[in-house]
Amino acid sequence: MLSERLKKSIKDYPDFPKKGIIFKDINPIIADSQLFSDLIRKISSYPFYKETDAIVAIDARGFIFGSVVAERVKKPLILARKKNKLPGALIEENYGLEYGQDSLAIQESAIKNFKNFVIIDDLLATGGTAKCVYNILKRNSKNIIALSVIIELTSLKGAENFKAPVYSEIKFD
Ligand code: AMP
Repeated sequence: MLSERLKKSIKDYPDFPKKGIIFKDINPIIADSQLFSDLIRKISSYPFYKETDAIVAIDARGFIFGSVVAERVKKPLILARKKNKLPGALIEENYGLEYGQDSLAIQESAIKNFKNFVIIDDLLATGGTAKCVYNILKRNSKNIIALSVIIELTSLKGAENFKAPVYSEIKFD
């Protein structure tokens, strides 16, 4: 089963990037071309892409998955980037991370012609990062159809904070 193969592949790094965090490394997934391909096929097959106008991928590991999914489902790809990376008029918002504080921005021009969005990231922990993108889109009266992540850390209850359906391929406590 895909979820079992993914679970076996992900490596835990305790106390990275700081004490108390068990970092889930997705690099072995993308280094296994068959596993990566099977994963992308699965996450691109969700029926909600029919009603999706555009995909927002989150800096930085969300880009890896978001870009291939966008190409596969033939939808525009929009990048939610960290501070000072995007030019032009931006919509920005701060957020708290499982291990820090940061902000994300989206170009105003990138979203203006679209209504219905799917957000893609690698991992859902507290939900702060995904919620930040959700808030940026909501502030601009957009509709969030779903959040798609590879890994969900269920004990942190990120999905409960998120006011749209969350699709995760594997769950850890
Ligand atoms: P959060 O905002 O708490 O949901 O954190 C999600 C973001 O932080 C994702 O973009 C992940 O890449 C990263 N992240 C948070 N916790 C972990 C973890 N334990 N292992 C790997 N990445 C993490």
